[in-house]
Amino acid sequence: MCGIVGYSGVKTVRQVLTDGLASLEYRGYDSAGVALWEGNAVTVIRQQGRLSRLVERIGTAHEESRCGIGHTRWATHGQPSEVNAHPHRQGRVTLVHNGIIENYLQLREQLEKEGYVFQTQTDTEIAAALIDSCYKGAPLEAIREACGRMEGAYAFAILFDGHPNCVYGIRLGSPLVAAVDDTGAYLASDLTAILPYTSRYLLPEEGELLALEEGRLSCYDGSLRPMEPVWKQAHWSVEQARKDGYRYFMEKEIHEQPQALRRTISPRIADGLPSFEVDGLPAGFFGRIHKLYITACGTALYCGMVGKALIEKIARLPVEVEVASEFRYRDPILEPDSAAVIISQSGETADSLAALRLLKGKGIPVIAVVNVVGSSIAREADYCLYTYAGPEIAVATTKAYSVQVAMMYLIAILAAGERGLADDQEQRRLVAGLEEAVERTPQVLAMGDEIRNYAKGLKNTESMFYIGRGLDYSLALEGSLKLKEISYIHAEAYAAGELKHGTLALVTPQTPVVALATQPELLAKTVSNMREVMARGGPVLALVTEDLELDPGACDRRITIPGKSGIFAPLLLVIVLQMIGFYAAEERGCDVDKPRNLAKSVTVE
Ligand code: GLU
Repeated sequence: MCGIVGYSGVKTVRQVLTDGLASLEYRGYDSAGVALWEGNAVTVIRQQGRLSRLVERIGTAHEESRCGIGHTRWATHGQPSEVNAHPHRQGRVTLVHNGIIENYLQLREQLEKEGYVFQTQTDTEIAAALIDSCYKGAPLEAIREACGRMEGAYAFAILFDGHPNCVYGIRLGSPLVAAVDDTGAYLASDLTAILPYTSRYLLPEEGELLALEEGRLSCYDGSLRPMEPVWKQAHWSVEQARKDGYRYFMEKEIHEQPQALRRTISPRIADGLPSFEVDGLPAGFFGRIHKLYITACGTALYCGMVGKALIEKIARLPVEVEVASEFRYRDPILEPDSAAVIISQSGETADSLAALRLLKGKGIPVIAVVNVVGSSIAREADYCLYTYAGPEIAVATTKAYSVQVAMMYLIAILAAGERGLADDQEQRRLVAGLEEAVERTPQVLAMGDEIRNYAKGLKNTESMFYIGRGLDYSLALEGSLKLKEISYIHAEAYAAGELKHGTLALVTPQTPVVALATQPELLAKTVSNMREVMARGGPVLALVTEDLELDPGACDRRITIPGKSGIFAPLLLVIVLQMIGFYAAEERGCDVDKPRNLAKSVTVE
């Protein structure tokens, strides 16, 4: 899920490319590179590691170049080394790539017979050679022909010898945006790289081609017929994409949750009742279905588990939740009169997109819950409920999860109404519960010192457990993922009742256990499980809502969650879990916003 950028115009391209890559670095940071037009020749500079090393290496050189392409890599094929870093060059073609060419080995064999010799282990170098072998002097034709032979996903920015100061682009399955300002034309993997220059942009459809020639932008359809660009207006400002005085994007994003939640729920509440009219979801939709499939990856999957618990409890609608990468390959049995929800922050998650296509292909209507406007999942779904988290830059998601969960509440309450299980009064009561929880989120954000104090004790921890029952178990999954992805502490989430079936053997005085207890009907059972841990010397932190009494002998430490116990507690509980992860990572000196081996927007399978 690399980041790509291209520019042709009057500015010194070095700066445009490295600034653009800086805002795309969240997409990958294994290596970075640029290719610059200098007269009639292309200069390629590549560097293993973070972008800052490339910037240092380029220094103030190449001042005269006005056109080029850049890349920040998250390796899929071949090690994150300098030789595998993009741009790749073969023959007369130099390119950067985001995605995976699945049939690259067959193509490689064919191209080797034609005499191509490959230096790298990447699929991208094969793509460069294939385009070169199709190049007879007309770039767009070469791209079209070569792409017709590639399988997989790609967004390319390409330079052709013989066409100085020009960049060509195309996408299939990977994101790409383009824009122009009074200095020239840009293309990039996402808007954050372009927003400093202009808020007007275009999203090429799959298979459409872009030509940035001497600062002008032209678009072509898949048959190479010129097209009028369809401009869109971005509503995100550059400021929103900056850190606002926080040390880390993750910290800023945790603190943005109250506004993000309000922005997401308020357009969907009319006269105290839930409504997706603004999103174009037909009234009565949930009354007509008998089953819902929720498919997602990572944190979004854990949100889906919260959704299942809520929708089944409040609306008595059966829900199946499954990780997208499994769902798509197991030939799922899909019931008639069902519908699906796909949850993805970026809207580009490759496995979720594939699951969406499978569902649609079988005639199941799909609702997307997506944060990035105009993303592939948003566009391909039958209906899209946009979450309004704003740009999320930290690799570990926080605010995007919370707004997805808020959407699950609204779906559950609306479905309860449409299925005749909750009258208007009951729906209003539930909506008020949701609003009340949202209004309490700043109280949790004010608990930073208390949470940091606990997290300090995790400095040398190697392994820990998160336990809970019901909704608390779904939240335990999210809490443990948050901790491991940024602090590198090994953490497992367990359904509290399962601990004694094996895992308890791992509990020692060096294995902290975080017990989540926000569901009143399950409290007594969870307390028993906490006692089992205490009896083995495991230090227990209890996260308990303020209205629940807890026997002090059941834990070593208690952090009290403001607000009521029950179904709305997850919105407040998750913030505590996010902050435990954040402070633990900070305490351990980890790169909070850019954890090792990971990247945001997982556009690979
Ligand atoms: N497959 C390319 C590589 O490994 C691009 C990876 C990506 O876009 O994530 O270099």
